[in-house]
Amino acid sequence: MKLARLGDGAEIFHTLQGEGVSMGEPAVFVRLSLCNLHCVWCDTDHTWNFEGTPWKHEKDAIQGYAKHRKEDVIIEMSPNEVAEIVRGFCRRRVVLTGGEPLLHEAELVELMAALSEDGEEWFFEVETNGTKMPGAGFLGLIGQINVSPKLANSGMGEELRLKPTVLAGLAATGKAWFKFVVRDERDITEIRSLMERAGIPGNRVILMPEGRTVEALDSTAAWLAERCRDLGVRFSDRLHVRLWGDRRGV
Ligand code: SF4
Repeated sequence: MKLARLGDGAEIFHTLQGEGVSMGEPAVFVRLSLCNLHCVWCDTDHTWNFEGTPWKHEKDAIQGYAKHRKEDVIIEMSPNEVAEIVRGFCRRRVVLTGGEPLLHEAELVELMAALSEDGEEWFFEVETNGTKMPGAGFLGLIGQINVSPKLANSGMGEELRLKPTVLAGLAATGKAWFKFVVRDERDITEIRSLMERAGIPGNRVILMPEGRTVEALDSTAAWLAERCRDLGVRFSDRLHVRLWGDRRGV
């Protein structure tokens, strides 16, 4: 399986879940490489913004930013090798993230199955953009699905980023939470319409301000928290941005 590379190894690290319904939970993160979307504000662009690709990113405006060389940002490992690293941490909560982890569904099933054979209590979360419906093998092992459907503010065309039947299927598993990255009131209108189209219940919706810095988060957070209260949906901060900024592997 292709994982994000960090230094000489894979981007597998012990930290606190920074977003969503389990924000603050200690967990081991396993970051997979590759994504089927290319959001302009993505904070893990090292998983897809490779040399030779045509994708645009907001960071293009930053002097010195360059697309990534695949050999610098991807590392290949087997599910068993990943399981061995994960076992080295004392935590039993594992967050499978990316990129888009479901591009590696078969290998993730192998990884979760290998860990589950230990006889220990494991809890697996996956973070997905909600464009791919996982199969029964994956759904049987995963404990929580953190779905983050992308809105127009991602810069992606609707036909690529929104798959209402997949979202409805994920909602029907009873394991999914739907977390939306919000910039302004236009996003709220889009979210409400999508909830209706895909049958996403409000008690499973989480709204989170967009931002890779504390200043950017703060410019939206207070306004968004009030909208969450009025709409009766959850608010999520981005804890890792407040604690560690834009740093990788923490
Ligand atoms: S779906 Fe997620 S990982 Fe993929 S480009 Fe968008 S924000 Fe980044």
